[in-house]
Amino acid sequence: MSELAYPYEAPASQALFDRAAAVTPGGVNSPVRAFRAVGGTPRFMVSGTGPYLTDADGREYVDLVCSWGPMILGHSHPEVIAAVQDAVSRGTSFGTPGEGEVALAEEMTARVAPLEQVRLVSSGTEATMSAIRLARGFTQRTKVIKFAGCYHGHVDSLLAAAGSGVATFALPDTPGVTGAQAGDTIVLPYNDLDAVREAFRAHPGEIACVITEASPGNMGVVPPAEGFNQGLKDICSENGALYISDEVMTGFRTSRAGWFGVDGVVPDLMTFGKVMGGGFPAAAFGGRADVMAHLAPAGPVYQAGTLSGNPVATAAGLAQLRLLDEAAYAKVDAVSKEIQGLVTEALTKEGVAHRLQTASNMFSVFFTDRPVRNYEDARTQESFRFTAFFHSLLGSGVYLPPSSFESWFVSTAHDERAVQKIADALPAAARAAAEATA
Ligand code: PLP
Repeated sequence: MSELAYPYEAPASQALFDRAAAVTPGGVNSPVRAFRAVGGTPRFMVSGTGPYLTDADGREYVDLVCSWGPMILGHSHPEVIAAVQDAVSRGTSFGTPGEGEVALAEEMTARVAPLEQVRLVSSGTEATMSAIRLARGFTQRTKVIKFAGCYHGHVDSLLAAAGSGVATFALPDTPGVTGAQAGDTIVLPYNDLDAVREAFRAHPGEIACVITEASPGNMGVVPPAEGFNQGLKDICSENGALYISDEVMTGFRTSRAGWFGVDGVVPDLMTFGKVMGGGFPAAAFGGRADVMAHLAPAGPVYQAGTLSGNPVATAAGLAQLRLLDEAAYAKVDAVSKEIQGLVTEALTKEGVAHRLQTASNMFSVFFTDRPVRNYEDARTQESFRFTAFFHSLLGSGVYLPPSSFESWFVSTAHDERAVQKIADALPAAARAAAEATA
């Protein structure tokens, strides 16, 4: 990596990173924050307002990460902050039921028709883990189909990558996950219904569920091909398996009713997180009432959480959802389109081969000239160009996800000034991408 690739130093962030590395593995509490894919010093942020983040060195960035999705109203939205302050003034956790969690569940079920009942949890990982346990308990089957490149949190059985070919039994993707834990997971290529049919043929009566990101954003943005999600649902129905749509990322972001609001495919179970928590740890799983009735204490499938439905988190989530009306989504969609246009224009002008892929207001850029339909396609991109692009933008005060395999996120707070800052930064970044070498 040449020095040019890191045009600005960040001494205060570097000092914090050094301190962090002494007490926390790799200096971070979630791996992608460490900048390993792009190199350089991760920025330690001290505050966020609207579309901006300010780092420990006092530098301001237009934020295109939005806390990996949740901050759809921008940072420190006054009404969300007020709701949090009001809740916190009454106490932080009771370990009893409370009205806030009922109101949040009511808001969610009112927005998403297939969501007849929900159970609140504290992270997306907990949501997908619990949904799979419930699917297994309900169907009395063991195997789970997931797709390569889809991320569902760090659930043991879902940290399994694809082998090649159809219906490959996954090898664990990380030390610490045993063969037994991953052995019931079948990993298939995304957007390939034939592979799914073949897996059901090979394992009759054994597959409890198919879990898929409603529209994947964790290999970059790779939307489902026309008919793919409906095909999954139909195959599941024909074979007595449950179709689980993971809307942790897309839920209440890609529309008022998430990705369900876009494609209308009715899942048996769904998972949520991010936007519904308003920047706090709140997540959920839910769906068909007859399936959810199998969950403790109504049914035999155990699931619990000390901080589930936390009053502060639910107040933040409810305040955020109530502000997310059609006008808010129209605004996010419009600003997303505007930024997409600027990115395409800058890269095209410099002759950089790229594909900008979208799923409603989520989008990402692949440095390749071919369409990206699955993880194999995503991996063929020229990621070294992203590294140069990323650091140039960072140096100009634009904060992208520090990996070419992530969605970019915008908010209702991304105003003209923020967009102009991105527009001003893009030509140099596109040039850096064009000049980058592997
Ligand atoms: N599912 C999807 C689609 C996600 O994008 C994520 C996180 O990015 C998760 C699940 C896990 O959520 P969490 O990080 O809250 O555990």
